[in-house]
Amino acid sequence: MKAIQIKQVGPAEMLRWGDLEDPVPADDEVLVKHHAIGLNYIDTYHRSGLYTVPLPVVPGLEAAGEVVAAGADVTDFRPGDLVAYTDCMGAYAEYAAVPARRLVTVPEAVGTEAAAAAMLQGLTTHYLTESTYPIGQGDTVLIHAAAGGVGLLLVQRAKRKGARVIGTVSTAEKEQLAREAGADEVIRYTEKDFVTEVGALTNEQGCEVVYDGVGRSTFMGSLDCLKRRGMLVSFGQSSGNVEPFTPGLLAQKGSLFLTRPVLMDYVREPAELRQRSEELFAWLAKGELSLRIDRRLPLSEAAEAHRLLEGRKTTGKVLLLP
Ligand code: NDP
Repeated sequence: MKAIQIKQVGPAEMLRWGDLEDPVPADDEVLVKHHAIGLNYIDTYHRSGLYTVPLPVVPGLEAAGEVVAAGADVTDFRPGDLVAYTDCMGAYAEYAAVPARRLVTVPEAVGTEAAAAAMLQGLTTHYLTESTYPIGQGDTVLIHAAAGGVGLLLVQRAKRKGARVIGTVSTAEKEQLAREAGADEVIRYTEKDFVTEVGALTNEQGCEVVYDGVGRSTFMGSLDCLKRRGMLVSFGQSSGNVEPFTPGLLAQKGSLFLTRPVLMDYVREPAELRQRSEELFAWLAKGELSLRIDRRLPLSEAAEAHRLLEGRKTTGKVLLLP
């Protein structure tokens, strides 16, 4: 099969296109022929070495497609079934052998392309807004990188749950997209100090919760945007790792809560993965959540996709097509 491999960490050029043996499913695995593969920011951390993975590796944590074969112990899936997965490494390929317990069935009303676009960022949005901090009616919510993949989904969910949504973005085009997704206020944090702006927008009261996937460049400011006893959900670092800091700072700034959640801890059990996926697919099927597919690129152009994502040139989702 054709696949992308990383043999050495480094810049986007380290993503090498070539031939690999077709995977053979173990007894508890399913062989999936990919229809579409999701690009995610975490893929750049694996490629750059920010997160360590054993090499060589076929990167990628999200795809959807059809079952072509199933191992001897698999009873839930049969050839022809439409399935999707996330958090199993090896998606940047034509085929993957995936443990059956990590697969979910894709409803026809959703389809495999939307499922590939939604599994990682959509499930992240689900757990962040329903479980990590269950957003309530009337909350004021700050969402950084509000026109990004996770950002546009967070804005829609927060709005639907009755929050007042403040987003940050870097450009006018991204501001427009964040507003279309439902943001009440949008701050261009590359031009203005977002802490001052949030203060002015909230009568110096601050927000109940800040969703911060940007990390290094926003983290300290995010703490200053919270109400007393508010929560900073630090879920990523597209601008680089957050510097170490003393927990006493959380006391000084108003008994704040800080969490650094990861998707895998919210979908580890198959029952929880399926329950969240079913709810996510229902939102999509009912039109309660819209996906913005920024572009589709051939899988062979994964390096270009990484350059665009790291260069802040994408909005919403980028799909790689095998
Ligand atoms: P995005 O589509 O949001 O892309 C990243 C965005 O970050 C950019 O578009 C840009 O938006 C913003 N950004 C700010 N500063 C920088 C910088 N210096 N370099 C690059 N980008 C910058 O990516 P994803 O939706 O895939 O992921 C968003 C974040 O969420 C990532 O940090 C990712 O790791 C994290 N994540 C965490 C999960 C978890 O469970 N913990 C799961 C999924 C994602 P702008 O130009 O508007 O500033």
